[in-house]
Amino acid sequence: EIGKIADNLELDVYIVGGFVRDLILGVENFDFDIVVEGNGIKFARELAEELEGEVIEEHQEFGTACVATRLGLKLDVASCRVEYYQSPGALPEVEASDLKQDLFRRDFTLNALAIKLNSERFGKLIDFFGGKEDLEAGLIRILHNFSFIDDPTRIFRALRFVNRYDFELGQITRELMEHAIDQKVVEGVSLGRLSNELELILKEETAAEILSDLEEFDLLKFFHPQLSWTAKQSKLASEIPWAERWVEELEIEEELAVWQLYLLLLVNPLSVAEAKSLLTELKISNDIIAKVEFIKESDKEKLELLREFNVQPSEVYNSLKSLSLEELVYLVIVSENTEVKDWIEFYLLELRRIELQVTGKDIIELGYEPGPCFEKALQAVKTKKLNGELETYEAER
Ligand code: ATP
Repeated sequence: EIGKIADNLELDVYIVGGFVRDLILGVENFDFDIVVEGNGIKFARELAEELEGEVIEEHQEFGTACVATRLGLKLDVASCRVEYYQSPGALPEVEASDLKQDLFRRDFTLNALAIKLNSERFGKLIDFFGGKEDLEAGLIRILHNFSFIDDPTRIFRALRFVNRYDFELGQITRELMEHAIDQKVVEGVSLGRLSNELELILKEETAAEILSDLEEFDLLKFFHPQLSWTAKQSKLASEIPWAERWVEELEIEEELAVWQLYLLLLVNPLSVAEAKSLLTELKISNDIIAKVEFIKESDKEKLELLREFNVQPSEVYNSLKSLSLEELVYLVIVSENTEVKDWIEFYLLELRRIELQVTGKDIIELGYEPGPCFEKALQAVKTKKLNGELETYEAER
């Protein structure tokens, strides 16, 4: 369908970037980056109309647009960059060099592949820089020597792809990367972009390995001078995939934000104040900052309680009730202790679901004068219920 629209408008249209890379690798990818040789916005509008979708974003100055289809798919459409050294020669060459310019601006050879979408030659792979060969050899290679200087975030992207696909850096790419790191090019990256890269890293399945690489290449200092990723953090992080499966098996309603567990481990070497100021600077949401603060200040005390021999369920409930799922899972991971895990499991599945059938309001409606003893009495009943000391307790469960 896209091909036909392109034919009608007499434009050459390609799908590029991650989609093509993952198609060749046999990995699922629903990022549709479409590049048009010509007016991309015009093409996007036409595409939206044909597909009965709509253009949800348009940037005239960049020649880009985003189309949402009726089925909920999103297609990013961009125009190729203007041709600088256009040769007045044969048309196909000019066409190709237009796309070539666009692809040459990209990060790595494996991301600089395109597939033609026009009906004529639909599906043809366009590979100017040996990207397919690098994909097959498992190599991450930049396209030119200034790549990391032009855009230092490519250093982080390289390490993400290396770990995600279990690839290696090309030799020259590695040398240029080390050189760029020595030159402290990362210092020139805005906090916003740095924060974005960190979040992308933490959201990778191989986050722990990438963090080890950041340590090895001495990149963590650009986030904070005291930040590190030690063997201890790495070992605790290796428990995260297991914890993820454990939470899944509990079949509770909340989703575990796994990347936050990596973040909590990463800021572990910092003091509460340092961690707070770093995350505030990186504009990591307040909600997570609160988690960091809470965990760093109270995890020891909570773990001690959970390890105590004679602890009552009501004490466990009171100590855990304000914690989010991520904080609870974090406690399980750092405790390395099965009793703690059992308590938290019991809390998630049972204790936090126990409710009183009576409220203060019910009692007032019966005509009793409200007073502080209400709260106390209700609290006492709840404690008994949590501890399984009320007869109704078993029956209700
Ligand atoms: P992911 O699977 O992580 O989404 P992706 O390659 O699809 O990877 P995007 O960030 O969506 O990543 O980028 C889309 C394409 O844009 C890339 O394939 C690459 O060609 C290009 N690109 C992205 N970031 C850069 C960059 N910093 N420098 C050059 N090209 C980039």
